[in-house]
Amino acid sequence: MKTLQEIMDRSKRLVFFGGAGVSTASGIPDFRGENGLYRQKYGGLTPEMMLSQSFFYLHPDLFFEFYREHMLHPDAQPNAAHRKLAELERAGKLTGLVTQNIDGLHRKAGNRLVYELHGSVYENYCMDCRRPYSLEWLMKTSGVPRCEDCGAVVKPYVTLYGEAPDHYAMTGACREISGCDTLIVAGTSLEVEPAASCLEYFRGKELVVINREETPADARATLVLRGDIEEVMDALIVRENPAGRGR
Ligand code: NAD
Ligand code: ZN
Repeated sequence: MKTLQEIMDRSKRLVFFGGAGVSTASGIPDFRGENGLYRQKYGGLTPEMMLSQSFFYLHPDLFFEFYREHMLHPDAQPNAAHRKLAELERAGKLTGLVTQNIDGLHRKAGNRLVYELHGSVYENYCMDCRRPYSLEWLMKTSGVPRCEDCGAVVKPYVTLYGEAPDHYAMTGACREISGCDTLIVAGTSLEVEPAASCLEYFRGKELVVINREETPADARATLVLRGDIEEVMDALIVRENPAGRGR
C-alpha cells in the first residue's frame, strides 16, 4: 500500500483500466471470479454462449430472459472504489478511466472521462430505425422489447461476444493508455479480447495490478496487489494535481 501511495503521488497522468471485479462490492457478480456467473450452468449453456451475438439473433427470447435476470442491476450503487476514482478525477490525478463494465456505475459515481469499451445497459436502440430507449423503458417491457415506432427489436447497447467493442471508446482508451505515466489494472481477468489488448499501448513507467487472482499482466507489472479493490482504493489518499484537472 505504501508503494502504491508513492506511485500515485508521483503520477502526473494516471489511467485506470477496470473490469467486473470493480463492481462485485456493489452486488453485481463478475464472470470468472469465485462467485462469478461462470460457476453456474443454465440448462447446459454458459453465460458466454447466452451473451453471444449469434444467440441474440437465434434465441432473442432466451437472451432477454438471461439478460434481464443477470445483467440488469438498476439499484446497484457505486462502492468505495468507484467513489475514490471520481475523487481522483476531480483532483486532476486521473486523466482517463477505461472500463469493460456495462453497469454505468463510474458515471453514477461522477466520473466524466469514462471509456465504456462494452457499452452500457442504460443505452438501448431500435435495430431498424435507431430510436433510442432508456433502461427504465426496457424494464417496463417483457419478453423481447419492440420499438414503439416500427416494431423492430430494441437491442441493448452492450457488446456481445462476437461483436466489436465501441469504436470511439476503444480509440479513446488506447490514446489515454499510450499517453499516461501510470496505469492501474484492476478487477479484471484480462481474458476478453480485444479489450485486454488495449494494455499493449502502455509506454509509461508504472503498471499496477490490483486483483484477487493472477492476471496475464502481473509479469509486466511494477506492483501487484493481490487483494480487494474496494479496500485498496479506499485506503488511498488523494493529492491534487491542478494541471491535470478537466482533461
Ligand atoms: P471477469 O469476471 O473475467 O474477471 C473479474 C476479475 O476480478 C477476477 O479475476 C476476480 O478474481 C477479480 N475480482 C472480483 N472481485 C474483486 C474484488 N472485489 N477485488 C479484487 N479483485 C476482484 O471480468 P472482466 O475481466 O471484466 O470480463 C468480464 C466481461 O463481462 C467484461 O467484458 C464485462 O463487460 C462483462 N461483465 C460486466 C459486469 C458489470 O458491468 N459489472 C459484470 C459481469 C461481467
Ligand atoms: Zn424502430
